[in-house]
Amino acid sequence: MTDEDSSETTDYLSETKADETGEDHVNSPHPFDTIVVGGGPAGLSAALGLGRCLRKVVVCDAGKPRNAAAKVFNGYLSRDGASPHEFLEISRGQLKRYETVEIRKALVVGIEGVPQGFTVELDSGERLTARTILLATGLVDELPQIEGIRQFYGETVHSCPYCDAWELRGSALAVLGGSQEAADLALELLLWTRDIILCTYGVKASFSQETRSTMLRAGIKILDASVQRLEGKGGQLEGVRFNDGTFLPRRGAFFSPGQFQRSNLAEQLGCKACDEEIGCIRCGEDTATNVPGVYAAGNCTKGVQLVIAAVAEGMRAAFAINDALLEKDLNALKGSRGFEL
Ligand SMILES: Cc1cc2nc3c(=O)[nH]c(=O)nc-3n(C[C@H](O)[C@H](O)[C@H](O)COP(=O)(O)OP(=O)(O)OC[C@H]3O[C@@H](n4cnc5c(N)ncnc54)[C@H](O)[C@@H]3O)c2cc1C
Repeated sequence: MTDEDSSETTDYLSETKADETGEDHVNSPHPFDTIVVGGGPAGLSAALGLGRCLRKVVVCDAGKPRNAAAKVFNGYLSRDGASPHEFLEISRGQLKRYETVEIRKALVVGIEGVPQGFTVELDSGERLTARTILLATGLVDELPQIEGIRQFYGETVHSCPYCDAWELRGSALAVLGGSQEAADLALELLLWTRDIILCTYGVKASFSQETRSTMLRAGIKILDASVQRLEGKGGQLEGVRFNDGTFLPRRGAFFSPGQFQRSNLAEQLGCKACDEEIGCIRCGEDTATNVPGVYAAGNCTKGVQLVIAAVAEGMRAAFAINDALLEKDLNALKGSRGFEL
């Protein structure tokens, strides 16, 4: 599955720099220094870092951030409880003063290597070229197949305890799933509440006997009955309705999602994956992948899946890309008479 298949969408209000100034970097005799694929926290942070180095950058963003379903995001110092949508709007707004940075709403459908760089094809058919590529394309989470879950997802049904458990501390919670990951999540949630019921919702439980015993000892109940649907008002979960008609009152629920890459561009480019299942892009500390000139940052790589971490990784990519370009240019200077960055 790729970005095009996803049903999540978000408004995208950013005007591109080209629209504002009438300039079009694409027709410039010089290529872009970097094409950033993905304008989430990681991609925009990289654009800020590179823009401040006067690098010519274009961010191509399809406008489907991973946390589109969430009304707020937590755990970002100085932005705790802020709206993810507003956060991106403010970030794009702040990039407007960097005349070398352009943001476009566009899906990148292909990338290929060309001498000294890369050509990127947009869904409009337009092609852009640059010396380097940053993949900041994010992830997609797979929700359990339970009726009604989307109504509550992002408000009272969550996957990340670090992001959302504090708001539900002391509450009656359900954990949905029968995998080892679901059981581990139930145990982790004991930090926030003692009232936890694991609903395997008819899925065959695959956690170990030892884990089952630990859960029971910790007071976590395990229900194997098939779930009919989640019920509640607006985004507020009220409980779980089982197929036999019984109702389990719950204020919130958590699940451990399956995850996959939002984009297959890394695969297209020959970037190695660090994990077969999620397919996260393998990169070094400096965000460089195994393909020279291609970098990766944010949730499409391995690491802590938080906004603040994505922002930090984006900035780290900006440093690495800028350093690599500078080194190339300084090497080219050797034996020549002039130097143009
Ligand atoms: C429901 C939910 C709640 C969350 N709550 C929190 C929270 O409270 N606190 C917290 O810190 N984190 C939270 N997260 C995690 C947070 O969403 C991620 O850490 C963050 O979005 C990662 O940023 P990113 O830039 O790597 O990816 P994303 O935000 O997913 O951005 C990637 C962007 O790349 C674009 N893209 C992908 N492929 C292409 C392509 N081919 N061409 C063009 N554009 C493309 C996408 O459309 C998207 O806009 C939550 C996640 C979810 C799912």
